[in-house]
Amino acid sequence: MKCLSCKGSIENKLTNYIADFGDCIIVVRNVPSQVCSQCGEKSYSYHVSVRLQEIISQVRSLVSGIAEVNYSEAA
Ligand SMILES: [Zn+2]
Repeated sequence: MKCLSCKGSIENKLTNYIADFGDCIIVVRNVPSQVCSQCGEKSYSYHVSVRLQEIISQVRSLVSGIAEVNYSEAA
């Protein structure tokens, strides 16, 4: 698999996803993602991005301020 922007090689990595809503910041740790080793472009599989949105909307309804969750441990 090649990067869409620079054609660099893509590595599977665990990264942190940060959702910033202004009054509320949610950090999801250890998200499985594909990262370009050349330009750092990050992408998520369809399954992972759907899951991320679920986690974020769930956490956002429970927490205000800064919240930190682990991707693999999130309910
Ligand atoms: Zn790239």
